[in-house]
Amino acid sequence: MSVPVIVCAAVFGGAAAAFLPRVAARLAVSHGTPPRSACAHCTKPFPGWVRAGAACPCTEARTGTRLLWTVVVGAFASGLLGATFGATALLLILLPAALLGVLLALIDLRCRRLPNPVVAVLAAGTVLPLSAGALLFGEAGRLGRAVVGAVLCLVAYTIIALLPGDGLGLGDVKLATVLGFVLGFAGWPALAAGLVLPHLINGPIALFLLVTRRANRRTAVPFGPALLAGALLGLAAG
Ligand SMILES: [Zn+2]
Repeated sequence: MSVPVIVCAAVFGGAAAAFLPRVAARLAVSHGTPPRSACAHCTKPFPGWVRAGAACPCTEARTGTRLLWTVVVGAFASGLLGATFGATALLLILLPAALLGVLLALIDLRCRRLPNPVVAVLAAGTVLPLSAGALLFGEAGRLGRAVVGAVLCLVAYTIIALLPGDGLGLGDVKLATVLGFVLGFAGWPALAAGLVLPHLINGPIALFLLVTRRANRRTAVPFGPALLAGALLGLAAG
């Protein structure tokens, strides 16, 4: 474990996460709706996608705690990946993936959606370089394990999504498939932990949302944050 790598990764993750609220606010729209072009509170048009801090200056004072949590989660996830993988090419692939994960969690918490374009970028940013790296360095076995991980997650989460009840959506199945590939690439222990942990984490997340009145007993709790947190901890444990 290299402390400078952990610190650099955490600082990068925290700093980059500070830019996510506006992107999340713009992408947290219902299915088939184009990205939000104006602030939902003051109706002023968003001048662009890039802003450090709250999505709009008008919400800066009210959303300070949420921004702090976003930065803390970005820093923690990146620092944990730095501690797990050290200064490797794998870390360079997983750091941007972790930020996309934080973005997906923010969007899912806002509108219970995991937008296809973001999941597609996450898939392209992980599956392509990991596959290319495995083929280049003669690690076909690792690639095979990654494919098994993706297929396992695809089948398992499709079955869960088909079960009666307002549980998982198709977005969760697609995200789980991408995460299954990454976990399989990391190893069997990571894949096993990544398959089990989201279901253990989802309970406390649901409780937190109920206690903070972000959800009630009738609203379904988004599963994306649990999937992503489970995959992160699975990678760290594997
Ligand atoms: Zn505003």
